[in-house]
Amino acid sequence: ASKSAGRGRATTFEESMLQDRRRVRYLQRELRAAIYLDHLELHYQPVVDAQKQVKGFEALVRWRHPVRGLIPPIEFIPVAESSTLIDLLGEWVFTRACQDLARLGHLNVSINVSGEQLKRDNLVAMTERVLQQTGCAPQRIVYEITETAATDATPDVLRRLNKLRAMGIRLALDDFGTGHCGFNYLKTLPIDVIKIDRSYISNLGKDRLAQVLVSALTEVGRIQGISVVAEGVETDEDFQLAKAAGCDRFQGYAIARPQPLEQIDLSRIGGMLAEAS
Ligand code: C2E
Ligand code: MG
Ligand code: MG
Ligand code: MG
Repeated sequence: ASKSAGRGRATTFEESMLQDRRRVRYLQRELRAAIYLDHLELHYQPVVDAQKQVKGFEALVRWRHPVRGLIPPIEFIPVAESSTLIDLLGEWVFTRACQDLARLGHLNVSINVSGEQLKRDNLVAMTERVLQQTGCAPQRIVYEITETAATDATPDVLRRLNKLRAMGIRLALDDFGTGHCGFNYLKTLPIDVIKIDRSYISNLGKDRLAQVLVSALTEVGRIQGISVVAEGVETDEDFQLAKAAGCDRFQGYAIARPQPLEQIDLSRIGGMLAEAS
């Protein structure tokens, strides 16, 4: 494109690509700084059993931007994933979660791990190092990986997953139903928990097929010793239907929203007190 074309003309494809790349690079720089400046936060969403007793929490990252306010992960995780910045972010998240663990009673914490982190050796070494530095028990940690990352797993990725599991960390298959995981995968993947995607849970009341699929999955889970979590439980009806379909854990706005650690009132979490005593 020539300079004389001036302003106002349509930007060419190459130009918009260039602008996208600049925007991504700018965001990457800003995010890197945010990690070092501790402008990230973890919010925790409770996971409950069929009696609504809290059994654990999922850690969800947010970016507290000085100008733009609280930015949800969907807006910056993909940016981090387009470079090794996701490793740095993953380490920040894991370290903070381990530090917070002491303030979450004896309950488990689930941490989202990007499929990109699994592609490098770094993850296992980082996990070992942070566990040692923080003195955190690996038995209280669940790593959530997406169904797609799991089904696309190369032998190297599988080796890493098995290594993490051998260290005592449990593995959950996140957003189950959005990828292409066949039932036979469930026999071979080294997983302890399946989290059924919200799209299935919200359809339980409307769609007979969703009911049949979720029931079949919880049946497989029982046989394989895999716990099945209903994600995105937004109404009491969702909760009742997911319970009827055999799910053993529940997470969603109808139970509790993700919240900063300071706002979690452990004295109100009955299950914790009952179990701790
Ligand atoms: P996810 O792991 O599937 O997390 C569940 C998402 O659903 C969270 O969104 C949560 O706030 C939201 N949610 C919970 N209950 C309900 C509900 O009843 N209804 C609806 N509509 N949504 C509900 P959030 O926090 O915006 O996170 C979005 C995604 O970003 C996560 O999906 C996860 O894939 C990713 N993510 C979050 N934190 C991290 C992190 O520390 N590392 C990595 N790699 N990814 C993360
Ligand atoms: Mg998750
Ligand atoms: Mg999920
Ligand atoms: Mg999700």
